[in-house]
Amino acid sequence: MTKKTVSDFHIDTQITQLGRDPASQSGFVNAPVYRGSTVVFPTMDALLNNRAEFNYGTAGTPTIKNLEQSWSALAGAEGTVLSPSGLGAIVLALLTTLKSGDNLLMPDSVYRPTRNFCRGLLEKMGITITYYDPMIGGDIESLIKSNTSTIFLESPGSQSFEVQDVPAITAVAKKYNIATIIDNTWATPLFFRAHDMGCDLSLEAGTKYLGGHSDLLMGIVSANAEWWPKLRETYDLMAMLPGAEDCFLALRGLRTLSIRLKEAQSRALDIAHWLKSRPEVIRVLHPAFEDCPGHEIWKRDFTGSSGLFSVVLDPKFTQDDVGRLLDGLSIFGMGYSWGGFESLITPFDCAEYRTVTQWNPGGRTLRLQIGLEDVDDLKRDLADGFARMAH
Ligand SMILES: *Cc1c(COP(=O)(O)O)cnc(C)c1O
Repeated sequence: MTKKTVSDFHIDTQITQLGRDPASQSGFVNAPVYRGSTVVFPTMDALLNNRAEFNYGTAGTPTIKNLEQSWSALAGAEGTVLSPSGLGAIVLALLTTLKSGDNLLMPDSVYRPTRNFCRGLLEKMGITITYYDPMIGGDIESLIKSNTSTIFLESPGSQSFEVQDVPAITAVAKKYNIATIIDNTWATPLFFRAHDMGCDLSLEAGTKYLGGHSDLLMGIVSANAEWWPKLRETYDLMAMLPGAEDCFLALRGLRTLSIRLKEAQSRALDIAHWLKSRPEVIRVLHPAFEDCPGHEIWKRDFTGSSGLFSVVLDPKFTQDDVGRLLDGLSIFGMGYSWGGFESLITPFDCAEYRTVTQWNPGGRTLRLQIGLEDVDDLKRDLADGFARMAH
């Protein structure tokens, strides 16, 4: 009887097996960490004709290859490249599809540093950026100009959680031969199959759920067959790659990605439902809630929800009131990033940077990342905070 291969199994089994081969690792379960610049060739012929699996550290190591190939299998992609941060992955994807003189369509709900990159660098390179309402769907067609080469998507939107109609937008893009890039960090390929939904490039801040422990910065870009050669070429031209230990940590994170995401999902839903029942909260911006723009699209296109969402507070609460809530918390930390084992909370205001849509949620807004602490402890921490906020 022949042994089955990794791709014969369900995804939860696959992520335990991808990117390692005990038979070639002296029997050890995990692959060793390869650090290296120089690769020596056995013969002059091999050197001159580049006949070797690896030829130099910037072009890849077995450790990098293990992670790239694992991610391609997980994402249903033709190929994957890595970057030292999620923002680096965004830059890599945009530089793959754009050239001077092009027009780029960007959702108004995009992750703020993406917007900063557009303003700080892309505009300087002669690229024009048109921001669009993230809920535009197929009407994006009306924004397309003769020089529009790329549509960027991020679903749900950072902080505000609008769920985009990705299939409608990618269908329009295909009609006009426009490239699509999605920031799929919130859902990961486990909850949203970006390439199956028509996206050419899909990126992920591996910093978040893949790392999972707030000790890793990592970016990942995967491509479909059409865009893979161009993505790989752009990567090779720049050689901005993460270090070997970070690739090892990402591979370690991969083993528990599914189970951690499912925990994040159920805990975040529990806390979000509890928050919805609180008089201090007027709205929950979580794709699994009807209050959330695009909730019906989320139900149609996603297979789950992760642990990050926002709430809108009763407008009677002032900035100082919210400060009393936040400053006295015992478990929730105040800080950026998310996807780790620990819970976080941050105040935000999208009105500071939006340019084509109004941000008028009806009260002050907080974003929560639900970690792996006991949910009753988390609720008590928030309930005590609400009591401080009211007095
Ligand atoms: C955090 C984040 C990034 C960037 O990741 P870094 O590794 O912190 O650079 C990109 N997109 C989204 C949606 C994020 O939340």
